[in-house]
Amino acid sequence: MSQATTKLNAFPVFIRVEGEAVAIVGGGEEALAKARLIAQSSAVLHIIARDAEPELLAFIAESGANYMPGAYNASQLEGAVMVFAASGDEALDRRVAADARRLGIPVNAVDRPDLCDFFTPALVNRAPVAVAIGTEGAGPVLAQMLRSRIDRMLSPSLGPLAALAASFRNAAERLPRGSIRRRFWSDFFGGAPARAVEAGEFSQAREAATDLLLSNAPVRGHIALVGAGPGAEDLLTLRAHRLLMEADVIVHDALVPEAVVAMGRRDAERLPVGKRKGCHTKSQAEINALLVDLGRQGKRVVRLKSGDPLVFGRAGEEMAALRDAGIAYEVVPGVTAAFAAAADFELPLTLRGVSSSMVFTTGHDLKGNSLPDWAKLAISGATVAVYMGRSVAAEVAGRLIEAGLSPDTAVAVVENASLANRRRFHGTLADLPSLEARADLSGPVMTIIGDAVAGANFERSEPLAAHRHESAPVAAAEGVQP
Ligand code: SAH
Repeated sequence: MSQATTKLNAFPVFIRVEGEAVAIVGGGEEALAKARLIAQSSAVLHIIARDAEPELLAFIAESGANYMPGAYNASQLEGAVMVFAASGDEALDRRVAADARRLGIPVNAVDRPDLCDFFTPALVNRAPVAVAIGTEGAGPVLAQMLRSRIDRMLSPSLGPLAALAASFRNAAERLPRGSIRRRFWSDFFGGAPARAVEAGEFSQAREAATDLLLSNAPVRGHIALVGAGPGAEDLLTLRAHRLLMEADVIVHDALVPEAVVAMGRRDAERLPVGKRKGCHTKSQAEINALLVDLGRQGKRVVRLKSGDPLVFGRAGEEMAALRDAGIAYEVVPGVTAAFAAAADFELPLTLRGVSSSMVFTTGHDLKGNSLPDWAKLAISGATVAVYMGRSVAAEVAGRLIEAGLSPDTAVAVVENASLANRRRFHGTLADLPSLEARADLSGPVMTIIGDAVAGANFERSEPLAAHRHESAPVAAAEGVQP
């Protein structure tokens, strides 16, 4: 095996093809694959094939490519800027490659690297921006994997943003060279214009860019309240991941695992703000003030919350503080713990003929004399998801039974939903109080109650009541907020 070197044997370039002819010789699958690739450009496709397969014919009809049926001859290549020999017939491909070379046209022969003047990349297309991935033919599968990774990283609105940038290029030339011009472009691509394009507000984007250009725009901070999901990194949304990659500062709760925070930009500042019962934490007012302060400094902030930010995440208070301070923000939803727990149990939260509504509650409102509305809903058949419910498990069970819900109602409990170390328990409402005494649970716990729970898969779960521990302190893992 030859030693790996840092020298490329094929150097990437972008060839102008607008309005130019690109010839593809072949009528089968390989020709179709190349045709699809080239059709992502504004080149004029010539497809030369004795008999094209139906799929290729359909592609020709819908793409408006030129079809040249009949026997191949070299004159058909004349004037093309690129030729693909994709007939699958070695003798013919060799002939095509030789003809192209004689005519001075670069040629690619499918699956015959020895005949190729150039290779085609795996392509991420955000026209006018393109990312081309080449492996010199070593790993088409690797190239596809990289392609899909890069594709996920790049916003779908990158193309329109780049087009907008092009329309500001002349105006930006009038800014002094160096740091001032660089600052304009970095604010353009990372600030208000980019966000407006992302939201589909093109005229607003134009205005924001013009403001930047006239420098009458103060550097604007932006806070994204982002749902981190229940803990597994790959349950983060693509949008959450993208914002994490762009953030200057990541402000996160203790319940968000390190692995998720680590998905952020490497040089982003990370500020843990606690919110774990019993741990040293910032108060909500301090967090609000921190977010406002970072916004005023012009930072791009990701406020990372476990699950969905709008479910028991105190996002309401943070949004109000940001609104009052005039700081721009957005909300990115996440997979809430109830959904992750239901998935871990293959548990239908709504079940035809059994349950058609669901309640998200904490159970912490059960202390008073009157029964909260959600308890009535539970009795009328709603599926109930109890957040932060471990320390009030006995209260929840007692009050629901007292109010008329059967002690036999099915209950499912998941600790660390979505994570590899998750634990599942099942039982009935009568067993639920035992949850409070379990000292072996140190992660966050989700409890789901209702008749629909009986439809779950209990194969990998332990009985809830089997464990009778002497009274142990409730672990400090609820994420209950001070
Ligand atoms: N905004 C979050 C909830 C925050 S409150 C969301 O939408 O999920 C914190 C509570 O969420 C915990 O006490 C626990 O009940 C629940 N929780 C969060 N992550 C969990 C997980 N991985 N497994 C089980 N419960 C979880």
